[in-house]
Formats: sequence, C-alpha cells, structure tokens
Amino acid sequence: MQISGTLRGALGAATEDRIIFDLGGIGESQRRLTRELPGVAVRFAVKACPVDEVLDTLAVAGAGFDTASPGEIRQALRTGTPPRLIHYGNVVKSDADIAAAYRLGIRDFATDSVADVRAIAAHAPGARVFCRIVTTGAGALWGLQGKNGCSVPEAVTVLATARACGLTPAGLSLHVGSQQMSTTAWRAAADDLVHAITRLRRRGIRLDHVNLGGGLPALGYLDRRGLPLHPPLDAILAELRDGIGRLRRTAGTPLDVILEPGRHLVADHGAIRAHVVRLTTRGRARWLYLSCGKFNGLYEMDQLQYRLEFPTHRGAPTVPAVIAGPTCDSDDAYDAGHPMPVPAGLRSGDPVWILATGAYSVSYRSVGFNGFAPLPYRAVHDRQPVDVALR
Ligand SMILES: *Cc1c(COP(=O)(O)O)cnc(C)c1O
Repeated sequence: MQISGTLRGALGAATEDRIIFDLGGIGESQRRLTRELPGVAVRFAVKACPVDEVLDTLAVAGAGFDTASPGEIRQALRTGTPPRLIHYGNVVKSDADIAAAYRLGIRDFATDSVADVRAIAAHAPGARVFCRIVTTGAGALWGLQGKNGCSVPEAVTVLATARACGLTPAGLSLHVGSQQMSTTAWRAAADDLVHAITRLRRRGIRLDHVNLGGGLPALGYLDRRGLPLHPPLDAILAELRDGIGRLRRTAGTPLDVILEPGRHLVADHGAIRAHVVRLTTRGRARWLYLSCGKFNGLYEMDQLQYRLEFPTHRGAPTVPAVIAGPTCDSDDAYDAGHPMPVPAGLRSGDPVWILATGAYSVSYRSVGFNGFAPLPYRAVHDRQPVDVALR
C-alpha cells in the first residue's frame, strides 16, 4: 500500500504523537466510489471518523451522512448538508432521541421492530422509515450479527405497521458486516432484498429506496497474523453493480440506492505518529511496546495488525517481536502467536508510523485509561496543514 506524499510529509514533520488525516485522499476516495457506482448516493457512516474537517471534505465531495444519535446529526448538520441527505440509521433510539432528530429536520429513520415503528409514529409523525434486515455477517472481520435487523417476513410486518401508523414505508437496509472480504455476501444481500421487495409488492408496498449499508473494505490492513489482507474490491464493486440492477428490475418503479461506507472512505487516508516505549525481552519472546494501542486509537487490534514504519531505522536488521500498546491491560497487545519483524536497534522515543488507521481511531479512543490521553489529531490538505487539537 502506498501512502500519499502529503501524509508522509505530515508524519515526518510530527514531533509528537498524533493521528493525521489526509483530506485530499479522503475526498478522492468519495469521488472514486461515486464514479465506480454511478447513480448511487453515498452517506458516510459518521462513527467511522467523527472529525469535523473530514465530514466537511466528504460533504464537499458529495456525500450525505448516516448518523446514530442526535449528537452525530448535529455534527453532520454543521457541514451545511441539508437534513434530507442525513438519516438516523440506528435502530436503537429512545423517544427523546427520535423527537430531537425530528426537531433537527431529520425525516428518514431506520427501524427493525414494531415497537420502534410505533415510537417513530408518536415522536416523528409522518416520517419515512426503512427497515433493516439481518445478514449472517459471514466473510466480514466484524460480522455485526445479533443486535440489528429482522427477518424478511418480520420486515413486511414492520413496514405494513408503519403504513398503518401514518408513516411512509420508504425502504429496506442491511449491513453485510464490517471489512467484508467476500463478494458472496453482497450477492446474498441482493438476493434477500429481491425476496423482500417481491413480498412487499404483494402487500401493496412499493419502496422508493434500498440502503446497502457499510462493509466496503479498506485496502491497507494486515490480518491478525500480520499478513496483508487483499480484499477483492473490484469484484465487490462489480457484484454491487449487478445486485443494484437486479433490485431495480424487481422494484419495477424508480428505486434510489444508498450506500453507507465508513472505513472504506477514510481508513487508508489516516496514519498515526506514535513512538517506541521500549523493545524488551521476556522469557523467549521479544516485546515491542508502542505509545499507541487498543485504548488510545487502535481498538480494532482484536482482528488486525497494522503496517508499521520506523523512519529512523530504514533498512536496519530486524528481530521478531510481539507488538503491544502502552497500558498494563493484557488485551492491549496484538496476537502473541504472530510476532512482527521490527528493527533490532529500536530505542525508547524513536518515532513509529502506524498506517491505515484513519477509521475508528478517533471514535474508539478511551479517555484516561491508565492516564493516557486520547491522541490529538491533525488534518492536512496538500501543503496547507490545518492544526487542530481535540478536547
Ligand atoms: C457502522 C455502520 C456503517 C459503516 O460500516 P463500515 O463497515 O465502516 O463501512 C454503516 N451503516 C451502519 C448502520 C453502521 O452501523
């Protein structure tokens, strides 16, 4: 994986730990996705990178937003994006949250149960709802099974209830699982949606959109064993184009298509400048402790390793070491069975660059675990860095 000159320059210039976002790369990833999937509306899943500068960049490049709370809705609205391009995509929401979203102008709500539909009818009268159906999550690094979505027959009941309550039964949604690595999952998703649209038509319910959710992969990760993940992105996009064609033919009436990518748009365009805490040996194993781990930016190390660069030790002899974060928590480490090669001469304080960390790094930072502050971030665009420290 290549990182941009802009990102490389900002990493090299950093003398303190921070997360760096390349806004040019993020805007381009949005534009590229729209070129690959013409006519598909992109709504960025805010939780993947709730950074104002990133959201502004995506909005300028044409994205709307998938949000999960009134807080995310307010942040998305601050970009100047009209409420009709923002939806409330969380099936879990209180009466007060529904009412707050409605007051903010949001009219599209995800749902997956009759109880939630009744709450939306009461607190967002006349709103539009889309029903989320379950997927198996097979083939994804994070399958997301269990908490969200209902079966196709239940979705028919939920949307019929919505209609009876004065809401507009507007769409269907799903999520194939995050960092989905297989094309089969997208085919199965389209099959399920074709089935659901057919059953809904029989009940006299015609949808105006389907929402194919998130799950598109980032390209720059290593798996738990430290081997490059090679997601078949081109084949996935081809499968999506095919599925969208089938869905439109099944609907028989105009059908808008929405995607809610999160990590795909941002992961490869962010990187962390951290530093070496210590390279040490215990028993027969070498350990490399870094200043950034599971609790200050790399929560997803349960399923991943990251490409590391040590800019002050290029080409130096390496030794295998288990990589871990700075806290005393034993979960704050990569898989001990799969050490990574690291320069043998690393000293405490040496810089390390942790690549492909633009997604779920800011949103998953904990505050004050073992006294480590959340990493600050910096958003850069070509040669005009905008320095911003998070609270
Ligand atoms: C998290 C989430 C997404 C984004 O998922 P990615 O795997 O990062 O693309 C999209 N939609 C919903 C409803 C989500 O909860």
